[in-house]
This record gives sequence, C-alpha cells and structure tokens, in this order.
Amino acid sequence: MKENNATDLHDTWDREHLWHPYTSTIDPLPTYKVKSASGAKIILTDGTELIDGMSSWWACIHGYNNEAINNAVKCQLNSMSHVMFGGLTHEPAIELGKMLLEVAPPDMNNIFYADSGSVAVEVAMKMAVQASISRTGSHEKTNFVTIRSGYHGDTWNAMSVCDPVTGMHGAFGSALPIRFFVDSPSVKYGEEWNPEAMNQLEETLKLHHAEIAALILEPVVQGAGGMKFYHPQYLVEARKLCDKYGVYLIFDEIATGFWRTGKMFAWEHAGVQPDIMCIGKGLTAGYMTMSAVLTTKEVADTISRGEAGVLMHGPTFMGNPLACAVAIESLKQLQSKDMASILGKLETSLKRLLEPASGIQGVRDVRVLGSIGVIEMDSPVNVGEFQKMCVEKGIWVRPFGRNVYVMPPYIITDEELTKLINATIEIVKCIA
Ligand code: PMP
Repeated sequence: MKENNATDLHDTWDREHLWHPYTSTIDPLPTYKVKSASGAKIILTDGTELIDGMSSWWACIHGYNNEAINNAVKCQLNSMSHVMFGGLTHEPAIELGKMLLEVAPPDMNNIFYADSGSVAVEVAMKMAVQASISRTGSHEKTNFVTIRSGYHGDTWNAMSVCDPVTGMHGAFGSALPIRFFVDSPSVKYGEEWNPEAMNQLEETLKLHHAEIAALILEPVVQGAGGMKFYHPQYLVEARKLCDKYGVYLIFDEIATGFWRTGKMFAWEHAGVQPDIMCIGKGLTAGYMTMSAVLTTKEVADTISRGEAGVLMHGPTFMGNPLACAVAIESLKQLQSKDMASILGKLETSLKRLLEPASGIQGVRDVRVLGSIGVIEMDSPVNVGEFQKMCVEKGIWVRPFGRNVYVMPPYIITDEELTKLINATIEIVKCIA
C-alpha cells in the first residue's frame, strides 16, 4: 500500500482500494479528486474549477452547497438524525409526505420511503406482485413486461428489467429472472403519433397477461439505457392496455422527476397516471440517498387484504429525518420559483447551443427535452479520454455508450451553460 498524497489529483490509495461505479480493479478509469463543490461548480484539489453538466447523475438539481438546504440539515440534526420508522413516526416524514401528495398524480395516496432508486424499483415490483396475487388469487401473475432501452437500477429485480443489451444481463446471464421485453417506443418525442407503435406491447399482453403483474417503464425519457425521448401518447395507450389486460402500470420517475423533463413529473406530458410510481435522485437534491414509492389506495389496500396482510419491506433507514428535511427544503425551493419558465429557458438555450453539434461528422442525433441535452454519436465514446479533455477545458460531463449528454443543475448561469456546451462540442469534434 502506498502512502496517500492529499494533493494527488488521481489518488493512488483510492485507485488501489476503492471501487468506483462499474469499474475494473485491474485497469480502473481515472478519478479526479474533489475538494469542494458550490453552485454549478465542482472544485478539484489542485484548484481546477469544473462546470457541472451532470448534476451528479440527475440529483443535484439546485446546485451544490445550497445554503438553505445546508441549514435544514443542521436544524434537523439538532433534534434527531434518525429514529426507526417501525412503530415510530415524525414530523419531517409527515410534512414531506403531504408535500409529495400535493405534487404527485392525483390518484396517489400511499407513500413508502425507501433508500435509493434501485430499492424503490424493488419495492414497486414487490407491490405489484403482492397486489396482483391478492387481487387474482393466482401465483402465476407475477412476471413483468418492460420496454427495451430502459434502465431501472442495479439491484436484482431492477437489473432484470433494464435493457437486455445495454443493461447487465450479459454479466449475470441466467441468474436474472426472465422478463418480457418489447421494443422501445418507435415514435420519438415531437414526431407524429403512429398507433402501430403499440402493436408489440398489445400482442405481448394479449398472449401473456395471465403471467404479468405489471408493465414498468420510464415515462417519456429513457435515461441511462439509451437517452431516448418518446411520444407521450405511448403512455396513454399503454394505460389503456394495462387496464384492458388487468396489469398494473409502474412509472419509474427516478431520473425524470422534479422538473428534469420540463414538467414536475414526466407523466404530466401524457396526463395518464400510473398505479405505482418511483421517485428518487432529485427528491433529496443530491444531498443524501432517499427514494419513495407512491401508489393508489386501491393497490395499497389490495396488498393489505392479501395473504401476508402487509407490504413485505422495511429498510433500517426508512423515512430518515435528515433526508426528509432535505427533501422538504428542496421542494419548498421548487415551489417558490417559476420552474416551468426556468426549464423553458434552459430548454431553449440548450437547443440553441447544441445546434452546431448536429453538423459534426460522427454525430448521429442531437436532441433536447427540458434540461436534458443529448449528442448521440455513431460509435461508443472512450470515457477516460473524453473526461480528460473535459477537465482540461473546465467542464464535467460523463458520456455513456454512444451518448454524450448533459443535465446541468437548474441554477446554472447563462455564461456557465454556454461554456459547458461549447466545450462539450469542441471535445465531440476532437473525438468524432
Ligand atoms: N431508475 C432510473 C430511471 C434511474 O435513472 C436510476 C439511476 N440512474 C435508478 C432507477 C436507480 O437509482 P439508484 O442509483 O439511486 O439506485
């Protein structure tokens, strides 16, 4: 073991002992050591300032080091950091729950606080299975259907409904439960709707509904599985099919929630409600891990009338008061601003700034929705090389597969956004 050098930007001890996401221990990608972060900037230990294009994977919606959220944490810390949620409750959990139900789809009635996005997906899938067994009395109706290019997290069941090619099916093979997959919606956001887009889903449900508890999907924007934006009418039609075939509909709004797509939640693009909805990431504004699963009274009560009589889940840190306090303050900030107009302006700026990227050779598509901007390349991007150039240019963007994408904190200034996108395009030109 080598001695740790605090000023080393690529810390040797970290490289030898700490596992980073999706990383080899033999040939890890470089990591850059961060000293602090503030507003839309990440500051490295050598003083380099990076304009953040990632919001720390969709989460840090208000930027870093937000004074009011910092104070909310400190204030909560003075009364209690945590108590078990079994048999106890507290004001932060109740206040947050009330606030969430005010902004959630109107049919949502019951809230389950969970630890992370992936766990929320596990809980949502467990809800669907328990409710399905209770409603039908059949233990056969417990499988899932989903759309390709989806991403729902890294735990077992979440992995099983991720895209079978870009997801983790290759690494885990037959260890994963086998799900039904239909093609990713063929009609893109903004294109003319074509009813044929529903054919595969209809066919699968027609043939297999007796085995299927729920359809799970990310509404309108498919994130890490492909960064695709699809026509909201797909959700309207999917809702009808789910009702026709007695299948629950789960919306994974973990990435899309909290204004990322230009609406508070992406279901609003279509106006159809799910039976179960997962939220996370922006819920706690990048401060700490927490997610929630919301469902209807019908689903909740059906589970409770079932064999077990209870929902079979109960994490240690459920309803953590510090996380609730953060989420409450974050929601207050969203409520106090005209988010529709902030996101409208961000979308317009992203479209204008990204426009020149479409002419670059090697760029397949450029698309923007809300505060998400995507440059899709013809071939996969070398992440290590790309990020080295990002740091040299003072920005932070982490491509995945063929997609170079940005989803900056909403507080990013015009000047910062211009620098972020111009530098991204320059790098794209270099690698194309
Ligand atoms: N669902 C979606 C749509 C996501 O984007 C993610 C995270 N990228 C998850 C689930 C999993 O969330 P977490 O990483 O917090 O477990």
